[in-house]
Amino acid sequence: MTTDTASDTAPVLKDGVYYHQFDIVIVGAGGAGMRAAIEAGPGARTAVISKLYPTRSHTGAAQGGMAAALANVEEDSWEWHTFDTVKGGDYLVDQDAAEILAKEAIDAVIDLENMGLPFNRTPEGKIDQRRFGGHTADHGKTPVRRACYAADRTGHMILQTLFQNCVKLGINFFNEFYVLDLVTVKDADGSTKVAGVVAYELATGDLHVFQSKAVIFATGGFGKIFKTTSNAHTLTGDGVGIIWRKGLPLEDMEFFQFHPTGLAGLGILLTEGARGEGAILRNVSGERFMERYAPTIKDLAPRDIVSRCMVQEVAEGRGAGPHRDYVLLDCTHLGAEVLETKLPDITEFARTYLGVDPVVEPVPVMPTAHYAMGGIPTNNNAEVLSDNTTVVPGLYAAGECACVSVHGSNRLGTNSLLDINVFGKRAGRNAVEYVKTADFVALPEDPAKEVRELIEGLRTNEGTERIAVLRKTLQDEMDRKAQVFRTDESLGEVLEVIEELRERFKNVHVDDKGKRYNTDLLEAVELGFLLDIAEVVVVTAKNRKESRGGHMRDDFPKRDDENYMQHTMAYLSGDPHSSSPEDHIALGWKPVVFTKNEAGELRYPPLERKY
Ligand SMILES: Cc1cc2nc3c(=O)[nH]c(=O)nc-3n(C[C@H](O)[C@H](O)[C@H](O)COP(=O)(O)OP(=O)(O)OC[C@H]3O[C@@H](n4cnc5c(N)ncnc54)[C@H](O)[C@@H]3O)c2cc1C
Repeated sequence: MTTDTASDTAPVLKDGVYYHQFDIVIVGAGGAGMRAAIEAGPGARTAVISKLYPTRSHTGAAQGGMAAALANVEEDSWEWHTFDTVKGGDYLVDQDAAEILAKEAIDAVIDLENMGLPFNRTPEGKIDQRRFGGHTADHGKTPVRRACYAADRTGHMILQTLFQNCVKLGINFFNEFYVLDLVTVKDADGSTKVAGVVAYELATGDLHVFQSKAVIFATGGFGKIFKTTSNAHTLTGDGVGIIWRKGLPLEDMEFFQFHPTGLAGLGILLTEGARGEGAILRNVSGERFMERYAPTIKDLAPRDIVSRCMVQEVAEGRGAGPHRDYVLLDCTHLGAEVLETKLPDITEFARTYLGVDPVVEPVPVMPTAHYAMGGIPTNNNAEVLSDNTTVVPGLYAAGECACVSVHGSNRLGTNSLLDINVFGKRAGRNAVEYVKTADFVALPEDPAKEVRELIEGLRTNEGTERIAVLRKTLQDEMDRKAQVFRTDESLGEVLEVIEELRERFKNVHVDDKGKRYNTDLLEAVELGFLLDIAEVVVVTAKNRKESRGGHMRDDFPKRDDENYMQHTMAYLSGDPHSSSPEDHIALGWKPVVFTKNEAGELRYPPLERKY
């Protein structure tokens, strides 16, 4: 087919498939996708495709803040911010990327302010800043006020502000379009070229091919591989799954962050900003137990450490509640005014979902699956890599789906809203430069073939397996055996279950055979991605026989820099349908980037992580 007649507004219909053509296609309308669009929109014909209406993206649920060493309320520097990011990530962070993150943070906040974001202010009118876990002054001496915030709705404000600016720029949005494939073409020399994406329109069941010179993935995280999670139902890791199925690698998938303060039993998040404002974690005797584990910064230690301490308190019988299975977040001393003005949403969450009023009583909390440190490997320009160093021309990734890696094995709070802005902007800027000289890659004869087969295969499957049953089994098992503490045995057990579920998924039944808003079908597709991703997470976790950041192996409790100071790279190889992971997952390593000072010494040498 010829696409030269296709334009932004008038797709060409051929053989039942709509064909569109744009210079740049951005998959995802969260913070990273829309920040990229604002950068790309003025310079190139840009489309944003999103399975959700943009302002429903998970960025809008972010609460506590966005880090930047503005030094508005206390002395601070980007160098201290880099140090904290590297140490917080347990030295698996690529240090050149962390330096970029911390340096460009200042402009990222000012950009948002100029776009109209209503940050909380100091009495003099500067952007106010609050404390957050792991952010310190002068290399760990004391907690520092580095997080810029808008009450506990910072993500909501960021998402709305970015969306309004996209609308102002006239960006083309394709909302409730579910991207299911990246169209790639292999060159004679074996290298991968990007030709566009294929999407399924939820309202109609139609297929759309978007031919483009550049594609930016900004599809967010995959917390839904776990049962107890702060993540939205939609965070099923589709983008990461698509990249995986294309045979491109994934990096550091074993590192998943468990946020300490999820509402007990539910996982709904209470921001770390609460502890930033002075809230305290207590065990059944009312003891401020973090003083024992992190004497300097106590409740504001990084999340991996606090989560482990909480689980340990419960395991050793010091949990609260009738079953002694949670600890308590005490905000009562903060007073009603601080709670109502600086933490209004989480105050309401505790009242609504647990019937507990944080003004007068402590709130039951336990760790909740929160953030994927791993994902699609990129370099500092947000270009996607097909191995340790080779760039896939025209393919970019930013935000939670990407692994730059600025978070290493554990992300610091407020560094993700920062990451999506800094690397979203870089992705947009670099894609615009790229499309200035790049040509469209010719589409294959029937680019929608694989997606059509996937959709029709699921819709017409006569099997009897229920989507909800398979998903629940996966999530329960992941919570039990691949959560805060892991062992070779527990990971082996969950892997067996995943392999069984992958087999059963072949007989999954979709009740709804219709085309309009077929959410049943959508859930089946999402389950497929969840199973693929969970398998990679568990296989890589089993392979890393050390404890580092968010990956705690009970059977290998120490960090082992000699053998494991490197990123994991996982590749799909062999038969993807085989039930044995050894047959289709190959693992490799990628060196961590260290930076040096003028004297040639390591700027951030790996130290023991004490707080
Ligand atoms: C409850 C909560 C609170 C948080 N608080 C903070 C905080 O205070 N500070 C901080 O720094 N971080 C915080 N985080 C983390 C941070 O919000 C996220 O990591 C970040 O917002 C992710 O942004 P993103 O743009 O990468 O993805 P998202 O905002 O999740 O957007 C993903 C987009 O991809 C689209 N998409 C996905 N798959 C497809 C597909 N197949 N086809 C088409 N579109 C697709 C979706 O429609 C969506 O638009 C929080 C996270 C949670 C869950």
